[in-house]
Amino acid sequence: MPAIIDLHAHSTRSDGVLAPAQLVSRAVGNGVSLLALTDHDTMDGLAEARNAAMHTGLKLINGVEISTTWNGRTFHILGLDINPLEPTLADGLARLRAFRVWRAEEIARRLARAGIPEPLNGARSFVKGAIVSRSHFARYLVSIGKAKDFRRAIKRWLVKGGPGHVPGDWAELNEVVGWIRRAGGLPVIAHPARYRLTRTKLKYLIDAFVGSGGLGIEVLSGSHSLKEAQGFSGMAQRYGLLASVGSDFHSPDECWMDLGGLPELPKGCQPVWERFAA
Ligand code: AMP
Ligand code: MN
Ligand code: MN
Ligand code: MN
Repeated sequence: MPAIIDLHAHSTRSDGVLAPAQLVSRAVGNGVSLLALTDHDTMDGLAEARNAAMHTGLKLINGVEISTTWNGRTFHILGLDINPLEPTLADGLARLRAFRVWRAEEIARRLARAGIPEPLNGARSFVKGAIVSRSHFARYLVSIGKAKDFRRAIKRWLVKGGPGHVPGDWAELNEVVGWIRRAGGLPVIAHPARYRLTRTKLKYLIDAFVGSGGLGIEVLSGSHSLKEAQGFSGMAQRYGLLASVGSDFHSPDECWMDLGGLPELPKGCQPVWERFAA
């Protein structure tokens, strides 16, 4: 039986709903043998996850998903197999978390103007960890009946054109890739299909990413269709990028793919995990 690998998942330390130890238990239950915890802009959950993974068949990889601004748009870059003690990376993430504090206040001001009661306290009541994200606002909006479900809450209130949208002002692509490399990690473009880029813009992104030291791309993602996965499989091979696999699991509800829910990489792809240290 092929190994079940999942290199993209969130815990309560960012916008997931399972604590790091619960996430690891669920992964073990699903037969996952290699898991990366990749919370948004924080490495806070790694120690708890590592403890939980001890004496199980599961190998835990230290990861993080870093919010990045490139050409005025937001992209997510995964850092896989990072050293969480590397100070440049830790300082960089602290800066992003500080931006998140201001952004949450700004989102709340805008939602209040659009008639949402107590948006900041409401979102904060869903926060259990180190960051406030749009997911927490979305959960609050659903809880007060302002949207039917999580996805609709994001789409109606929190994306560009919506009343609570605040543009990201994250770290630059070359900076983020540099932090990850300095921490001994492998930089990977997360869920590339989600950005809806034209072929030309995607090529620009990959050129800039590789030029900065970027190494990999998520070929299989919980947010990719089969057709998109096939496209990115070919692209990874043409550009010589390492291929990654990640569910992007956040919660057993809210229609996320479950941990370990993805198939094997297509033949010809070079798996990113073959580059992990030991
Ligand atoms: P933030 O990093 O605070 O901007 O929040 C982004 C998070 O919101 C993502 O990590 C997802 O968890 C969620 N999210 C954003 N856009 C979507 C979408 N179109 N569908 C589902 N979840 C989304
Ligand atoms: Mn998220
Ligand atoms: Mn993401
Ligand atoms: Mn993610």
